Amino acid sequence: MNTRIALPAAVCALVLTVAGCGAGVDQRGTGQPAPPAAAPRATPGPDTSCPNVTASLRPTGALPAPTALPAGSTMEVLRRRGFLIAGIDQSSFPFGFVDPRSNTLRGFDIDLLREVAKAIFGDDGPQRIQFRVVRNEERAIAVARGDVDIIAETMTINCQRKQSVEFSSVYFNAGQRLLVQRDGTADRADYGAGLAALPRDMRVCSVPGSTSITLLREQAPQVKVVEGDTWAGCLVLLQQGEADAITTDDTILAGLQAQDRVFTVVVGGNLTLEPYGMAIAKDRPDFVRFVNAVLERTRQNGRWKALYREYLGNSLAAEVPDPPAAVYRDSA
Ligand code: GLU
Repeated sequence: MNTRIALPAAVCALVLTVAGCGAGVDQRGTGQPAPPAAAPRATPGPDTSCPNVTASLRPTGALPAPTALPAGSTMEVLRRRGFLIAGIDQSSFPFGFVDPRSNTLRGFDIDLLREVAKAIFGDDGPQRIQFRVVRNEERAIAVARGDVDIIAETMTINCQRKQSVEFSSVYFNAGQRLLVQRDGTADRADYGAGLAALPRDMRVCSVPGSTSITLLREQAPQVKVVEGDTWAGCLVLLQQGEADAITTDDTILAGLQAQDRVFTVVVGGNLTLEPYGMAIAKDRPDFVRFVNAVLERTRQNGRWKALYREYLGNSLAAEVPDPPAAVYRDSA
């Protein structure tokens, strides 16, 4: 058994316990309709500097059985080693979190990693993952250095990150938004004009190494940026009155809001498009193709939709959407 949780689950478990929330989150249970989302636009900055940023490497045919992995391939080397090392976050409910009832790691990202492990090791694959908590700002470098074999951590595919790592096909499309206190003032302001129109000196929490904090610094020089150590840490700062707002992906904000439905609310429309991919080292293209085949299988056999229903079904959309279609940049 190589499953290991690298850091104590204190913050996440505490917040989850206090909120009494399970896997499903119900942002709509607030009685207030979600504000209309503006059409997402491409994330600015480095994201637009390379063509076909989300195009990945095509799977090589159907997935082989775990016992028939190509000799010498990355997957066969991992199988012989006996475990997969996966970089994750455990404070990004419902993508990566510790379920306080079972004290196990759960989430959309975590379960997708378990699918990858099953394809390498067979049925006991889920027990053959060594999970390592990787700080947001270290995701790309941890993969490039070989500290982890793969990262699944609400990680947006962008050109800057693609300089150091390869990404799988897109497995989720998120968008940056804002979470504020439901105090009768902040939640009634007009957030339609985006970050640039936020009030001067508003204290906005975001996590270093995220696309969210980059956009915040670029577009809202008038606000005070509060750096959280994690997204759950930002929620604590908001609850303690040390921050007025949090900005990051709608997925993560929905999870934070579910932990404090009474006092927080997600406002404004989508500010960006944040396509999530799993990060893998550039010198392991065979593993990228293999992971893309696993993702393809989850799209086709209903697993992706089951995961959406389990973790996001009550929060982001009333109906489970279709999974994002894969885009490949090579023919075979
Ligand atoms: N998806 C964004 C990113 O990769 C923000 C969320 C996060 O950092 O986990 O930077």
